[in-house]
Amino acid sequence: MYITSSEIVGVLALILGVYGGYRFQALSVSGGIVALLISFLIVLGTGIKGLFLIGAFFVTSSFWSRFKRERKRSADERNEKGGKRDGYQVLANGLLPAIASIGFAFIKNDLFLFIFIAALATANSDTWASEIGSLSRKKPVHLLSLKQVEAGTSGAMSLLGTIAAFFGALLIGIVSYFLWNEVSLTIALLIALAGFLGNLVDTFLGATVQVTYYCPSCYLVTEKRKHCGMKTQYKQGLRLFNNEVVNFLAIMLGSLVILAFI
Ligand SMILES: [Zn+2]
Repeated sequence: MYITSSEIVGVLALILGVYGGYRFQALSVSGGIVALLISFLIVLGTGIKGLFLIGAFFVTSSFWSRFKRERKRSADERNEKGGKRDGYQVLANGLLPAIASIGFAFIKNDLFLFIFIAALATANSDTWASEIGSLSRKKPVHLLSLKQVEAGTSGAMSLLGTIAAFFGALLIGIVSYFLWNEVSLTIALLIALAGFLGNLVDTFLGATVQVTYYCPSCYLVTEKRKHCGMKTQYKQGLRLFNNEVVNFLAIMLGSLVILAFI
């Protein structure tokens, strides 16, 4: 495979970016290593453009993750791992985009490119929804019961989070329109819609099958396996469906939606 000088600059920017993510506590050590591996696969598949798109996802997600972090403490308590992304979380978000990107390099079919972009649109939509949504001044409601729940509860939805989900998906669609000739404005908008629908699937799975635990000491309902120095107890959901599995499935469905559209 022929490597251009812009790709070398891109790879250097990538290493700096991942290091920055680690330094600013957006990534754990395992998260940083997996992010590097995934990004290398994406550069191999879709080149500097793919790297730029994953950069747009990573930079904006990290920004929103750190934005007004003090106000998000209670949501961080519920989420499995808080603000830092670890290897499993990066893999849940990045595995499908990486496979699609490599697929695009070997089988020159635009559908792989659209899957790659739609997967990132879903991941971005989901991240923006949870990071911005948890800043909502009004408590979110549970998708199925429509009752008010605490911010950060899986399956919770707020108006702010839903708007954020839409713009998170739209950003990826618009950026890809400017990056690739293959992406027309119609396809960019369909990709944004697929990403948004993928995020709704994420919320739906969060409201139905995602596993939750509770702390036997303070009775907090959480995704964490430990709280107050104790092992948390099973509350509801299917044990297999933790946050990463739900993320991965939502991204897969967001990608399938784009296939159904085109
Ligand atoms: Zn506790």
